[in-house]
Amino acid sequence: MGAISVAQALAILAQTKPLDGTEEVSVYDCAGRIAVEALISAIDQPPFPRSPLDGFAFHSEDVKGARRDAPVRLREAGYVPAGCGETFSVDRGECVRIMTGGRIPADCDAVVGIEDADYEAACGFDGDDAVRIYKEVGHFQNYVFAGDDFAKGTVLCKAGQKIDAAAAGCLAAAGFAALRVRRRPRVAILATGSEIAAPGSPLGAGKIYDSNSVYLKSRLKQLGLEADTAFCPDDPALLAKELQKRIASCDLVLTTGGVSVGDADYLPQILEELGASIRFAGVRLKPGSPLILAEKDGAQILCLSGNPYAAAATFELFARPLLAVLSADPSLQMQEMEGILAKPFPKSSPVPRYLRAKLENGILTVPDGHSSGQLLTMTGCNCLAELPASDGPAPAGIKLKVYRI
Ligand code: AMP
Ligand code: MG
Repeated sequence: MGAISVAQALAILAQTKPLDGTEEVSVYDCAGRIAVEALISAIDQPPFPRSPLDGFAFHSEDVKGARRDAPVRLREAGYVPAGCGETFSVDRGECVRIMTGGRIPADCDAVVGIEDADYEAACGFDGDDAVRIYKEVGHFQNYVFAGDDFAKGTVLCKAGQKIDAAAAGCLAAAGFAALRVRRRPRVAILATGSEIAAPGSPLGAGKIYDSNSVYLKSRLKQLGLEADTAFCPDDPALLAKELQKRIASCDLVLTTGGVSVGDADYLPQILEELGASIRFAGVRLKPGSPLILAEKDGAQILCLSGNPYAAAATFELFARPLLAVLSADPSLQMQEMEGILAKPFPKSSPVPRYLRAKLENGILTVPDGHSSGQLLTMTGCNCLAELPASDGPAPAGIKLKVYRI
């Protein structure tokens, strides 16, 4: 199977089936998850008319014409702090002292703020029950209706919607304690290479620490997903065993390293031996062209180059759309934008090249040091810029397609 274009690879990816399966999560943990069914409020929010102020509630007719130099006098008939469930009857000429969030008595239709009222004897909250109102307020002024935020029957979240913090808060406000969401893909990262050592272990001659697992796990975490990590030397038997173990327990296995044409690049052969079906092998792009997407027993296996930047770029380009389809979560897709290249890029690109870059106010800055083995220059970058294939260097000022990381 020959190398295909990025667009062809993405079209193949897009045919992946979303995962089945749902789970119930607490409303406290539902943000970032995909709702399975429409979630409808069974109550008005707020459930009762409430005061938006600390003040006094009354019949608005009673305070007509009230001014500071011509106050209206009302008799205080009760006290309604927030949370008070007591029922008050408030006759004409009466008021209740009410706090923000307090339930406005059925007889009242307006509230005035505490700063526009006084106790007759200015003697604090107790004692004289006559209150002076210094300001006219109209019918339903300073009055929050039941259902002002949302009414009973409102769809708070549609089926298939990704729940954000506001929706999660509304679900809680409607009394949902738990809800059904799509299950997340189970992801395993398997870094391969006999040179790989665990961060913190003594570094033997010829060895390097495994940064790919950490990079990929970190990116998944930023996208709201979890993953197990492990690494394995270039030992075909061991690799086959480790890979099969993850295929059996995961929806997506991401590997790095060992996917090219070197002596110890065993992954193509192992995938074949395991009977995985190859969905594509090799994509015409730089960096990371020898990547493979395979499938076995319902698991997707995406094998990326071991070069840290190549693994990073191809994760964005291919693992994200794959995760988006598996999770039925289009927000996991890369967001496409445009930017103007600030400085010329010196190399020619026989195949499309994806450059780490920083997009600020429409201007793309590409750091010096962009080889696929270099990761540090990616720090602070917020996008991949797509340089179309061309025979010469890319001049400054050209407009490029950009994918937000
Ligand atoms: P490979 O894709 O196996 O040919 O590896 C390409 C380059 O990436 C080599 O220089 C490897 O040492 C390096 N590399 C492979 N795996 C990792 C890893 N997990 N972390 C950091 N570098 C790696
Ligand atoms: Mg290798």
